[in-house]
Amino acid sequence: MLRFYNTLTRKKDVFKPIKGRTVGLYTCGPTVYSYAHLGNLRTYIFEDILKRVLITNGYRVTHLMNITDVGHLTSDADTGEDKIEKEAKKEKKTAWQIADFYTKAFFGDTQKLNIIKPDIIAKATDYIAEDIQLIQELEKQGFTYRTSDGIYFDTSKLKDYGKLTGMTFEKLNKTLKAGSRIEISPEKRNITDFSLWKFSPSAGGKRQMEWSSPWGIGFPGWHIECAVINLKFLGHAFTNHRFVPQKAQTIDIHCGGIDHIPVHHTNEIAQVEAVTKKPFVNFWLHGEFLVLPKARMGKSEGNTILIKDLEKMGFSPLAFRYLVLNSHYRTPLEFSFEALENSQNSLNNLSDFVYDLLWCAKKQKTNPKNLINIKKYYQDFEAALNDDLNTPQALAFLWKLSTEYYQLKKNNQSWNKINFKQIYKIVLEFDKILGLSLDNIKLIPPPRAIAVLIKQREKARQQKNFQQADEIRQQIEKLGFKIEDTILGPKIMTKTI
Ligand code: AMP
Ligand code: ZN
Repeated sequence: MLRFYNTLTRKKDVFKPIKGRTVGLYTCGPTVYSYAHLGNLRTYIFEDILKRVLITNGYRVTHLMNITDVGHLTSDADTGEDKIEKEAKKEKKTAWQIADFYTKAFFGDTQKLNIIKPDIIAKATDYIAEDIQLIQELEKQGFTYRTSDGIYFDTSKLKDYGKLTGMTFEKLNKTLKAGSRIEISPEKRNITDFSLWKFSPSAGGKRQMEWSSPWGIGFPGWHIECAVINLKFLGHAFTNHRFVPQKAQTIDIHCGGIDHIPVHHTNEIAQVEAVTKKPFVNFWLHGEFLVLPKARMGKSEGNTILIKDLEKMGFSPLAFRYLVLNSHYRTPLEFSFEALENSQNSLNNLSDFVYDLLWCAKKQKTNPKNLINIKKYYQDFEAALNDDLNTPQALAFLWKLSTEYYQLKKNNQSWNKINFKQIYKIVLEFDKILGLSLDNIKLIPPPRAIAVLIKQREKARQQKNFQQADEIRQQIEKLGFKIEDTILGPKIMTKTI
């Protein structure tokens, strides 16, 4: 049984897809005006685990992600500059070049973190015509009004606006007013109202990204982009590029970071449900923040750390993946280099474990009944993940397996009660979800010079010339290899796998 904490119902719900064994999964993609920071990447790792867990449970997942290459303003209150246009000015490039460059960089980083690429990647700028149709429909149904800078959604017109936050419309408005440090346009009817279409500014230079529309030249709001891309690819509400709201299907899962709950996702729901009169999404999953001691990690906080920074310091990007998996996605995770160092060590130890299994499996000529109950380990591992993606608990089961394994191996008599191949295989099954590249660990035959030394050392040991054997061991170590004597013969490995 698969259960997820659903932000909409505020409890763990049993997951059931809308249609058979297929799942439509939408994850809000990056705003491509700079490199993704570790905080962003934490969210994408959580979503990757979700996807892998769904696949392991036998679901056929269609994973859709947007690329926000226009319309995300520097302020959530529909004011400020477009983040991409702003960066283009700064870097003296076109907005298109900026978007293209940071999109590529994003997928480069996610690849390093073993995040599986979405099945469909949709750039917001490719769906402007669809945005316009959705706004026209909202206009037809009386949800919009015009101000001097754009077309806005009147949130007071939707009876359950804000339901994702658990607050009523009045309470949400009150809370936002109390917490707001930014000036709200006096033309807005409610603080929660948001722009659907913004007009290009009449002064201060021409925008690079702008389109004509029934309301004037401008660009879409950020929230309409995600709504439209969902409606198009997972909601199947566009036939031959024509929007047919009645055809819209509810989507299985939509996710993002917790910051998206009160504004971005709330507004996505508003736009879609206003015209389709159907639930937009069944399951809303939100990941908690990666934080630093004083604040969350964020571009506007100016405290970002990037994957390339970790690499420069000699960390593997997968050590960061491990760090993320080691805490539950619904708890804030405080980043520190000390914690990352520990994660790197854990990852190295896991690699040693897999190498050991691989080596023993190769040497083992028998196929013994396993004293270690690997089936039970896998069941526990799976149960932890199926219970709202409890990755720290799942990792703990992997470590428990490794502890039992090494414990048993301590006693030479027990070696023939361990089925190394079986354990190796099950660990790779674990890794199909964890995504730590444990399947990349290979037994590489030692170079010839080392192989010769190993043979000489074995000969010395057989002749009980332990002093010579020890000298050869030191020689081997000087050449960067480690040797360990086991009842299956000498195990040779590089000092760091
Ligand atoms: P953006 O590129 O700003 O649209 O953000 C991309 C994703 O990263 C969104 O799902 C955000 O909710 C998420 N995000 C932003 N900052 C953090 C953070 N410090 N920790 C975790 N997720 C974050
Ligand atoms: Zn989105």
